[in-house]
Amino acid sequence: MPKSKLLRAGLLACALLAAQNKQVSDAEVKKVHSSALLIDTHNDITSRTVTGYDIGKNAGDGHTNLAGFRQGGVGAQFFAVYVAASYVNGNHAANRTLEMIDTVRHDIIDKYPNDFVFALTANDIERAHRHGKIAALMGIEGGHAIEDSLRLLRDYYLLGIRYMTLTHSNTNNWADSSGDMDKAGVQHHNGLTDFGKDVVREMNRLGMMVDISHVADKTFWDALEVSTAPPFASHSSARSLSNVPRNMTDEMIGALAKKGGVVQINFACEFLSQATADASKSILPRLMAAREENNRALMEEYRKTVPPATLQDVVAHIDHVAKVGGINAVGIGSDFDGITCVPTGLEDVSKFPNLTRALLEKGYSAEDIRKIYGGNLLRVMRSVEAEARRRNAGSGTQKSE
Ligand SMILES: [Zn+2]
Repeated sequence: MPKSKLLRAGLLACALLAAQNKQVSDAEVKKVHSSALLIDTHNDITSRTVTGYDIGKNAGDGHTNLAGFRQGGVGAQFFAVYVAASYVNGNHAANRTLEMIDTVRHDIIDKYPNDFVFALTANDIERAHRHGKIAALMGIEGGHAIEDSLRLLRDYYLLGIRYMTLTHSNTNNWADSSGDMDKAGVQHHNGLTDFGKDVVREMNRLGMMVDISHVADKTFWDALEVSTAPPFASHSSARSLSNVPRNMTDEMIGALAKKGGVVQINFACEFLSQATADASKSILPRLMAAREENNRALMEEYRKTVPPATLQDVVAHIDHVAKVGGINAVGIGSDFDGITCVPTGLEDVSKFPNLTRALLEKGYSAEDIRKIYGGNLLRVMRSVEAEARRRNAGSGTQKSE
């Protein structure tokens, strides 16, 4: 490094150090937080609303409720249309997908029309925000939801689905998942099959965001190569800070950023902190297996033996992705109500202002924070929408916004 550059780097390091000690007033936190359009791209409360949980009442036993959304200043929420791998057995995946779509529309949007508004586009999100409402959107979690049919994929788009994770933790008939690469007896494909590539192309044509959270590394690289619109990770974090297959390597983050995509940071403690990931190695699979039974003894054991991650870990992941991929490549995908452990200081949807404070203290500007909270994601949505218009131009099926 030449001397002048070295000096500049030194000055920058000093400035950053000083910035880390920055004192931030409550008024400044409030001002910056309310100036941002906060878009969270993954929330699993739908797995509870589908069985009767009322999002309008603060049950106090989860991470998501209406009052919390308001307190946390959430501007738009992508609700997970999560289809567990078990629905593949007996071909119930489409049935489950439709039920989950219904719970977003019936139990959330239609039930609380003064607070939520159904949104399909980047413009819809901004319009809802201007009217003081929370934009509600949907993303499918688990590519097996389409039951290997592009016709179902198109139906889901028409019902309002605007992203789909190509897999959940299970490899399906056309894409490998990060969740079972070392599992014996699973038929893998070395990434995406030819049909899997067709799925990506059809998502591009429709204007559905290609979500690479949960996929195996090779599936990520295949999707990145095939997709003509920027893909994104709706809820993943950085593998160099916590080495789990669900997180992204620096190489992946860099490549995704180069293509205009964004990594939406997941708040699961295991994804945020290596210490948590290591401590939960033996108990987490048992806990997941007993998930449906609500096993209290196991939960108690988990709480006693696994140290939680913290708000500062979330900041560290945001900072890392911003350093590797640039400030335009990072966003928020909390995974609230889909995760076992939440970071201390960022325990539920009402706590987002704590993150704003921590980012300001770290030296992030208001403009940076607005990008992280929603600006970057809106840019990806608009690219995806523009690519769909381009693909459909002249075909007679061009969609209006
Ligand atoms: Zn997930």
